[in-house]
Amino acid sequence: MITRFLLCIPLITLLIGCNTTPESIVPTTALQGATLFDGKGNQMAHSVILIQEGRITAIGGAETEIPQGAEVIDVSGKYITPGLVDAHVHFGQTGFYDGRPDALDLRDTLPYEAVQKELATNPDRYYEAYLRSGVTAVYDVGGYEWSLGLPASAEENLNAPHVAAAGPLLTPVPQENLSIINTAEGKQLIQLTSPELGRERVQKQTALGATGIKIWMIALKDSVFMNSLRAVQEEVGLQDNKLIVHATSLDQAKEALRLGAKVLVHSVDDKPLDDEFIDLAKKAGVIYCPTLIVVRGYNNAAKALKNNFSVNDPNNVVDAETKNRINSGHLFFKYYPNPEKYEENIAAESEYINGLEAMMAANLKRVYEAGIPIALSTDAGNPGTLHGISIYDELEAMQQAGIPPSAIIPMATRNGAMAMDRGDDFGTLEVGKMADLIVLEKDPSMDASNFRSLTHVMRGGLLRPVNEVFKD
Ligand SMILES: [Zn+2]
Repeated sequence: MITRFLLCIPLITLLIGCNTTPESIVPTTALQGATLFDGKGNQMAHSVILIQEGRITAIGGAETEIPQGAEVIDVSGKYITPGLVDAHVHFGQTGFYDGRPDALDLRDTLPYEAVQKELATNPDRYYEAYLRSGVTAVYDVGGYEWSLGLPASAEENLNAPHVAAAGPLLTPVPQENLSIINTAEGKQLIQLTSPELGRERVQKQTALGATGIKIWMIALKDSVFMNSLRAVQEEVGLQDNKLIVHATSLDQAKEALRLGAKVLVHSVDDKPLDDEFIDLAKKAGVIYCPTLIVVRGYNNAAKALKNNFSVNDPNNVVDAETKNRINSGHLFFKYYPNPEKYEENIAAESEYINGLEAMMAANLKRVYEAGIPIALSTDAGNPGTLHGISIYDELEAMQQAGIPPSAIIPMATRNGAMAMDRGDDFGTLEVGKMADLIVLEKDPSMDASNFRSLTHVMRGGLLRPVNEVFKD
């Protein structure tokens, strides 16, 4: 079966390359025989998917008629889902401390300005890691203004996932405390000091293509901030944009929902959710993006300083520079404050994270049982949460929190597309939608870990194996 499947790939290339088809006939690709999950909660055995010009033109059971001359790819015995969507990433962060000097200051060796310049110049650095992890769309929910250019440039690039971006974040944190994660040339975090500034930012970022305006924490007792935030909320409505809020405490999260937030990033981790939260969440129509693994990621990054963090990357999709940073973590141990307490700190942090994880898991289960939409999200780019491959850890954490694997599939596909306002284009497998999908060896509805059995990814109708570097 495997051989038969793999042999089909060069065949398609050949057939397309020959161009013997009359111009009036559009080439068709047929994926035949897989068990299909459509991203809406349905599954179909022995499916047939027809694809023309990057879009799905037909979808059905074994009886579906395959046009003559179609390139037929036998995927029987395999599983197909829509491409995964990571609803929370940061292209302005590297997965190590060089992108977050506020967490560990390596700037003497790796100057932050230079790191940011390189990311701005090569924003495609992580694209292949995403696609070859099965992630065909990502939502950058906070970064420098250059991130707002990514949605347009990535859209037509079959070597990139689809991107949506929110741009610079608005926060109550005083500007002087933010300088360590801003550059001389631009700010990714802007202190919200007045209603006028808030309106101006919403207008500017919307004009630059932001789909979402993100608030980084809510200072409930800061009246200047709260007044400014209400102006932001109003302007977001006027600009037909939407509010994304980072709120990890129950009180802040509720306020975010009262303000009509459409995307709540991170889990509530300080208290169990209550009925009021659930009511507010339903009223707001919010999508809950739990990012369960990112805190543990910081602990793993600290372990990397003693080379005690190994990257689980069997398909070798992580870019060489990131891998090199993690594997040479020991070179940066000299920057660790209180090195004599390193082991003690790592253990204490880990213990603390255990508590947070238990609260986040219980709250996620509550959100799930209440029927509030949940979108898979990693917060990749933060130290220890690597672009692309972190998706598998997050999927497993969601399952561990008590969500059945079959229910995770729409959260990993459709709901992220909805958060990105791209639900009409991808996130489900339906006629007319983009042909973005993944092929798995094992059934993801039985165990979320089976997403790790990914063998192929299709973006815009182009099917490629994930264990090979993209050739062009
Ligand atoms: Zn984030």
